[in-house]
Amino acid sequence: MRTFNNIKTFASSVNENRRFLFEVVGVSQQESNTLDYPIRKSGSVFIAVPYARMNQEMNRINRLGGKIINITPIDGLTPVQSPSQGSSTTTETQPMTQSEPKAKKEKKEVKVPVNIYRPKNPYVGKCLENYELVAEGGSGTVRHLTFDLSAGDLHYLEGQSIGIIPPGEDDNGKPHKLRLYSIASTRHGDNRDDKTVSLCVRQLEYQNDEGETVYGVCSSYLCNLEVGADVAITGPVGKEMLLPDDEDATIIMLATGTGIAPFRAFLWRMFKERELNPDYQFKGLAWLIFGIPYTQNILYKDDLEKMAADYSENFRLTYAISREQQTADGGKMYVQSRVSEYADELFELIQKPNTHVYMCGLKGMEPPISETFTAEAEKRGMNWDDLRKQMKKEERWHVEVY
Ligand code: FAD
Repeated sequence: MRTFNNIKTFASSVNENRRFLFEVVGVSQQESNTLDYPIRKSGSVFIAVPYARMNQEMNRINRLGGKIINITPIDGLTPVQSPSQGSSTTTETQPMTQSEPKAKKEKKEVKVPVNIYRPKNPYVGKCLENYELVAEGGSGTVRHLTFDLSAGDLHYLEGQSIGIIPPGEDDNGKPHKLRLYSIASTRHGDNRDDKTVSLCVRQLEYQNDEGETVYGVCSSYLCNLEVGADVAITGPVGKEMLLPDDEDATIIMLATGTGIAPFRAFLWRMFKERELNPDYQFKGLAWLIFGIPYTQNILYKDDLEKMAADYSENFRLTYAISREQQTADGGKMYVQSRVSEYADELFELIQKPNTHVYMCGLKGMEPPISETFTAEAEKRGMNWDDLRKQMKKEERWHVEVY
């Protein structure tokens, strides 16, 4: 159980003091002695379980034919309902399900703003800054842009996107359609006054069939935007990538390139803006696996590494630098290669009821990551498709690829 010990060591300082009360039915008096707890009149047994032992205890109860009908954090937080555990191998190792996950419950209280500004009547804001994020010698152009929102009512949450309408017309003489961009700033904005929004934009550049270089319309417009210029903005949109309010959650973030944008917002909220969020003091575990081609392409490198150093108990940073690092078998190191390398550890984390997995960036990252998790699930007698669906239902599986 080397890997499990690793997880324990890793998460110990965060979680080891937390305990949960399991309410169990379906065990006989004799079996309840094995569980070391008396059966109540109601037929229930109550067992206090340290956080780190939740999975093992569930398996033990399952082996004894018991069913967990309720799980309550002993520190007085919101009760969560139990997994329904059967006797098959699959259910034995099934993740804990929550009929009303804490994250979901708390999210209901926060109103998620959507479509405050629509394409017919966009918000027009000024560009406050536009700077290059790729260091000398890196590949392509990626810019960090900040827009002024002070003249309107545009507000948003971490994980949402905004639309940008580039000026001019398309080949059919119609006004350009909006393009979506993930918001890279927190709700407070880079100026910490709730009056800006920031993006992280890669200029699309490719060779067409004739061998000519083609540049994307909106990404080129944004990457070349002058400070002080007006920009037409719509939105915000998106509920897929919201960050749960649970301060103890485990947040696994898998990013390629500009897929870092929503995770920059998450990490700033967790670690860089603690004093702005008295009601959100992150104490859980955040793990970013970030794929880029070269070291020079590590977007927001200094900030990420400083946070990883300052909050080493709560933030783990892993790079996959495809053109520089190799896998054990000599292949290129992509995000999915890192997922494969840490598959056992990641899979153990995924089974915790308050672990969320986020994926953002290139479309191609999803299938190989699914393959890795399929294999890990099989090793444990589980079915990844079922588990992923379950996680999606519990709002713990979040994908935004483009
Ligand atoms: P366009 O001028 O619209 O050109 C795009 C078209 O070019 C494609 O439809 C395709 O037909 C063609 N094309 C593209 N590549 C090739 C190729 N290799 N070979 C041949 N043809 C090709 N982008 C970011 O940079 N940062 C973000 O944070 C971000 N977040 C997003 C969030 C969401 C939810 C979504 C849906 C997209 C996001 N995007 C992001 C992508 C962004 O919306 C645009 O699609 C991107 O900037 C390209 O737009 P464009 O106008 O520059 O390109």
